[in-house]
Amino acid sequence: MTKQIWREQSKNRVSSQDFTAINGYHKDSQKLFRLHIPDFFKSNIDFTNSFDPLLMQVMPSIDEMNILKDFSDDPVGDLNAKKTKGVIHKYQGRVLLIATGTCAINCRYCFRRSFPYSQNNASANNWSPAIDYISNNKDIHEVILSGGDPLMLSTKVLSKLTSQLKDIEHIKTLRIHTRMPLVSPSRITDNFIKWLDSITLKKVMVLHCNHPRELQAQLQPVINKLLSTQTLLLNQSVLLKGINDDAKTLSQLSFKLFELGILPYYLNQLDKVQGAAHFQVTNKQAKFIHQELLTKLPGYLAPKLVEEIPGKKNKSPLY
Ligand code: SF4
Repeated sequence: MTKQIWREQSKNRVSSQDFTAINGYHKDSQKLFRLHIPDFFKSNIDFTNSFDPLLMQVMPSIDEMNILKDFSDDPVGDLNAKKTKGVIHKYQGRVLLIATGTCAINCRYCFRRSFPYSQNNASANNWSPAIDYISNNKDIHEVILSGGDPLMLSTKVLSKLTSQLKDIEHIKTLRIHTRMPLVSPSRITDNFIKWLDSITLKKVMVLHCNHPRELQAQLQPVINKLLSTQTLLLNQSVLLKGINDDAKTLSQLSFKLFELGILPYYLNQLDKVQGAAHFQVTNKQAKFIHQELLTKLPGYLAPKLVEEIPGKKNKSPLY
């Protein structure tokens, strides 16, 4: 599949008209965070059901207008951890590279929904400040490509970036955080697979799926291609009120991920980003749901329940 096709299929395919019959839709919320849903994800949404778990992840809602005092635009302290343009260094040994500010899907609960990308992502034309920072800090062994979604960059640009990383001796692992393989699978072109396969670092891809309905059977060949590159595939979910806040849904998600060849990794408590409070599940409920989930799954399919506390040196287990 050519680059042009995946670019086309990653474009936004919805407009206000798709939402006119849906309770809670609020056009003005799009001014706070753009509406963006790619073809594949859209094709799996039930637009006749206001409570469809895929729809709720992407629909601009009236609830986003609520401003709450313990919510903020930078809920995980990204800006305090910025080291140079595009580089966020919070955790020992691992560094995050904000490679782009765009995504194929705009998730309404995203903790970076208000992130000032224009001043804080590494430019594809000039990775030098980021590469210099990584080269000069010899305790860094893992580079995490994040964003936005790094797979919105062309394979050619990704390849230029990794060709610079491969010469840094202390970098052993490349991790890619992306929703693209599951929400816009045409992105996984033969050329992309060739690039991924050519990387000699250890490779980890962390996908992001919240509900078993996102995992359609057509995704299996795409996942198989990713697995053929010796990339470890993990999944992280966000615990979202009304979408996946019950043990039955989450256990189905874990089993379906495993069927495809992906291991559940984290179940994240919502980061308190302004505009997303209506997705919040209390810590007490989260623990209750997680404890029930543990009774339904073998240990290797149980995601860790964690939250991110700004300034902490690791993700914090809830209990
Ligand atoms: S794909 Fe990830 S970075 Fe992009 S909007 Fe969704 S959660 Fe945020």
